[in-house]
Parts: sequence; C-alpha cells; structure tokens
Amino acid sequence: MQTTKAFGAQSATTPLAPLTIERREPGPNDVAIQVLYCGVCHSDLHTVRGEWEGIRFPSVPGHEIVGRISAVGKDVSRFKLGDIVGVGCMVDSCRTCPSCRDGLQQYCEGPHGFQGTYNGWLDGSGENTYGGYSASVVVDEYFVLKIRHGEADLAAAAPLLCAGITTWSPLRHWNTGPGKKVGVVGVGGLGHMGIKLAHALGAHVVAFTTSPSKVEEARKLGADEVVVSRDAGAMAQHARSFDFILNTVAASHDLDAFMALLKRDGAMTLVGIPATPHPSPNVGNLIMGRRSLAGSLIGGIPETQEMLDFCAEHGITADVEMIDMHDIENAYARMLKSDVKYRFVIDMATI
Ligand code: NAP
Ligand code: ZN
Ligand code: ZN
Repeated sequence: MQTTKAFGAQSATTPLAPLTIERREPGPNDVAIQVLYCGVCHSDLHTVRGEWEGIRFPSVPGHEIVGRISAVGKDVSRFKLGDIVGVGCMVDSCRTCPSCRDGLQQYCEGPHGFQGTYNGWLDGSGENTYGGYSASVVVDEYFVLKIRHGEADLAAAAPLLCAGITTWSPLRHWNTGPGKKVGVVGVGGLGHMGIKLAHALGAHVVAFTTSPSKVEEARKLGADEVVVSRDAGAMAQHARSFDFILNTVAASHDLDAFMALLKRDGAMTLVGIPATPHPSPNVGNLIMGRRSLAGSLIGGIPETQEMLDFCAEHGITADVEMIDMHDIENAYARMLKSDVKYRFVIDMATI
C-alpha cells in the first residue's frame, strides 16, 4: 500500500476537506497514474451530498481523470511510463457477462455490476474506491484510455471521460447524424458536450436551456437553434419535429413538455439522475406517435476510446473553468445555480 493526498467528504453533511487515502501497489496488469486534471461532474456533487442510495463515506469523488503514467505492472502491454492517459467512471467489471463481452461494461450483469472509479462496486460489496480528487490512482490497464489530445488541451479533455462519453454513447446508439433533428436539454457539463458532439456528427441541433444567458453561447457551441424552455410559445414551434432528444437535466422536471416535441417514432433519452423522481410522464404522449422514453448510462470502454479519438481528430474539448482543489465547495455551489460555463476542472497540482 502507498498513501496519497486526496480531497473528500466524511459524511453527506460535511464539506470536502483534505484527507490521506491508500492506493494498492500496482499489480501485474495495473498502471499508477499521477493525476494532472480532474473534471467536476454533477454526479460528484450528488454523491458527496448523499443524494443517491448506497453512498459510502469517506467519499472521494472524481471520474474525469487525465494523468501521466508513473509506474507500470510487469504484464502491462498497452502503456509505458510517461504516457498521458484517461480514466472515466469505471475501473473494473466482471469482463465475462454478455454486456462486458459486448464492450458495454457499464451494464455489467456480473454479481457486483461495474466497479465505479469512486463509491466502489454497484452492489456496495468489497472495499470502497476513491476517485480522481487525489494525487494518484492505480487502475487495471484494461480500464485506462489513451489520450491523443495535445499537451495544451489536456485539462479541457478531462471532461470527455464522463460528460463526453455519456452524451456520445446515446447520440451514436440512437443514430443521430446528417438529416436528423436532435435536441439537447440542459446546457451544463453534459449538455454542452452533447451540443458539440451532435453538431460534429452532422445533426441539426436545437439546445434547450432555462438560462437566457446561455442562448448566444449555445449557438457558438454548435447549436443551430436555441430555445428557452420556459417559453411555451417557443416550445410549441417545435412540436412533433425531433428525431431524438438528449435530456441532461440534473433536477426533477416536467418531461411531457419535451415528449410533445418528438415526431412519430422519436425518442427522448434521459441521462440526468435527479435526487428526486420526475413527475410521471403522460402515457398519451407516448402512445400518440409511438414515442419512446429511454435512459442511458455513461459508455463502454471501446466506445469511450472511439469518442476520445474522434474528439482528438476533430479538435473537440470541453469549455472549462480551471479551479484549485480547495475551491471545490464554491464550485459545487455555482454548479447548483447552473453557473458554470461549462465544466470546472481541478488543477491537481494544487492538492
Ligand atoms: P450540470 O453541469 O449541473 O448541468 C445540468 C444542467 O441542467 C444545468 O446547467 C441547467 O442547464 C439544467 N438544469 C439544472 N436545474 C434545472 C431545472 N430545475 N430545470 C431545468 N433545467 C435545469 O450537470 P452535469 O454534470 O451535466 O450532469 C447532469 C446530470 O447527469 C446529473 O444528474 C448527473 O448526475 C447526471 N449524469 C449521468 C450520467 C449517466 O451516465 N447517465 C453520467 C454523468 C452525469 P440550463 O442552465 O441550460 O437550463
Ligand atoms: Zn460524471
Ligand atoms: Zn460483466
């Protein structure tokens, strides 16, 4: 075991503070990574505030990790010392179930589900895991991604590890691209990546925001049109017109307003995981038009690498605001007010 500096919460009601955690010695298939940058996902906040079931404390969040390899196990074949790599939301899974064999480890059907980068296995078994708000992590190379962005873009590439893949996976699964009208609801960390990626995939992109201050900027991110979703008249102009809507909102809200915008056979996929449930959607909205309401969880390791490579090739990164580790509580407070454009990234040198 080795100890490393980290930042975490001792309980759902205590602010994040420095703590020392243990990391395992790298095994034959492990790499040790010096964390350079870690993005701040709304899931980090849901977790440390205990808003979801089964949160274990102390909790060290962070699953948008970019770092440099500082040690390699003897059987590691894909990485060498000094490589710049990424770690996202998962660090292990059973690797043998049908979902794992399909490269969709996030839906692992093994006895424990996938092992989160923080908060341990999905079923709460075994030891807790600690995420990227720390100076180093040790991860099996199988769950480590290659980062092909240039040195200057590394901090802005970190959010791709969760916000990027969580929007890429459904955009690809629901076949968005040229000729498709795609809505992205919520222009936050996930939503702004959804806009960039849907645009890069060639879709006609409409952003929905509750923040009038984001209208102009959403256009710059790649939205062809922007609708303030509290304006019922503006919403009505898009009735029955969308092939696909990606809903990234982190809070409980009325889904019917968006379901009514889908054309026949259209689908809305939820990726936001609010602490309290959405009001039940109107069944009539689903039946009248054979519409689907779906969900999607992050993305598998192969598709995460595919997304990272696509972004490196197309010059896509997140729009980020850099913070010091000790500014994290202030960052959370701003995130709750939807006041971040569009992702905080921690400079881990400040830990
Ligand atoms: P975020 O940066 O806080 O963005 C959420 C956006 O939702 C806000 O910027 C805001 O956009 C909009 N919003 C917030 N409150 C709202 C309300 N009451 N009504 C309508 N819109 C509201 O959060 P994030 O990091 O993108 O994460 C979004 C959600 O996805 C979180 O619940 C997170 O836990 C979840 N998540 C899920 C997965 C997955 O695999 N499914 C992965 C990562 C994160 P506007 O200002 O534009 O309205
Ligand atoms: Zn996340
Ligand atoms: Zn599995």
